[in-house]
Amino acid sequence: MYRIKYLSNIFRVGEYTLIKKVDHIGIAVRSLENALPFYTEVLKLPLLGIEEVVSEKVKVAFLKAGETKLELLEPTSEESSIAKFIEKRGEGIHHVALGVESIEDRIKEIKAHGIRMIQDQPKQGAGGAMVAFMHPKSTAGILYELCEKKGMTQQNG
Ligand code: ZN
Repeated sequence: MYRIKYLSNIFRVGEYTLIKKVDHIGIAVRSLENALPFYTEVLKLPLLGIEEVVSEKVKVAFLKAGETKLELLEPTSEESSIAKFIEKRGEGIHHVALGVESIEDRIKEIKAHGIRMIQDQPKQGAGGAMVAFMHPKSTAGILYELCEKKGMTQQNG
C-alpha cells in the first residue's frame, strides 16, 4: 500500500501526474427529462448530447461545464447499477471521472499501489471512451472512473 509523505513529497507544477483533469462528474437521476431543465435553463449549461449505453442499461446526457462535464445518468432498467444506486442512496453524485492517456498502463500503475479496480481491462463507455472504475473500498468511498478518449471527434466520456 502507498503512504503519503507530507512536505518531503509536495507536488510541483510540471511534474508527472497520472491524470490529466477531472473529465466529468457522474450524477444519478431518475429522469433526464425532469433533471435537465435545471442544468440547461437555470445553469444554462450547453447540452452536448444524449446517448443510450445499452450494455450499462443507462441513458446519459452530457453537459459542458467549462473544462469539465456533468454526466447525468438515468437507468433504463431496474437491473441497471444506477437504478440500484438510486434505490439505496437516492439521486445524487455517483462517480468522478478522471481523464487519462494510455488507460491500460494507468490501470497497471494504480493496481501496483494495491488499489482494487472493478475492471482490470477498460470497457466501452459513453461517447466512445474507454473506461474502468476503481473500487470505492480502495478510495475512501469514492467511485472513480478512469476514462480515455481516443481521437478528437469524441466529446463525451
Ligand atoms: Zn462517467
